[in-house]
Amino acid sequence: MLLINGLYQIRPRRLAFRNDYCLSCAAPRRVIQVRTFDVWYLFWIPLLPLGFWKRWFCTVCGHQPHAGTKIRRPFKWAGLAVLVTLSIMSWGASISPDFYVGSWVFRIGAPIGAAILLLHLIYAPQGPSLKEMLESVQPATETVCPFCGIQMILSPQCCCPSCGVVRR
Ligand SMILES: [Zn+2]
Ligand SMILES: [Zn+2]
Repeated sequence: MLLINGLYQIRPRRLAFRNDYCLSCAAPRRVIQVRTFDVWYLFWIPLLPLGFWKRWFCTVCGHQPHAGTKIRRPFKWAGLAVLVTLSIMSWGASISPDFYVGSWVFRIGAPIGAAILLLHLIYAPQGPSLKEMLESVQPATETVCPFCGIQMILSPQCCCPSCGVVRR
């Protein structure tokens, strides 16, 4: 049975904005912090209030800016271990007549797959880290609220007197 469940995010309120590096867009982006009251639901029936939650969202793609998009390297190493194990097992086991083609597919395919994955792990560029990406992001400097278009109060922190959004 399919359990339809999820989160209702009620009364979203914009709290802050800043410039950040969005991993989904792979570019520096404007992100906004939104606070919602979350309620867990099962079959559209709100059951469990989870309280207020704050999350940052990219204004271009709508994703959370630091949510990972690529397969992480530890998973690739695990995949390599599986392929190596499959290679050893397929060469260690004798070929059964009713699985003749399949056995050879494993015997040849698994080592080739392992070799390609190993070369990829060794030679693929790891890319700059998120920390290096963040150093390329210019901090937000505007003094006019991007949502209301009015002058923000500059002390103690840059804040919009109308909507209350804070520049980070
Ligand atoms: Zn984005
Ligand atoms: Zn405002």
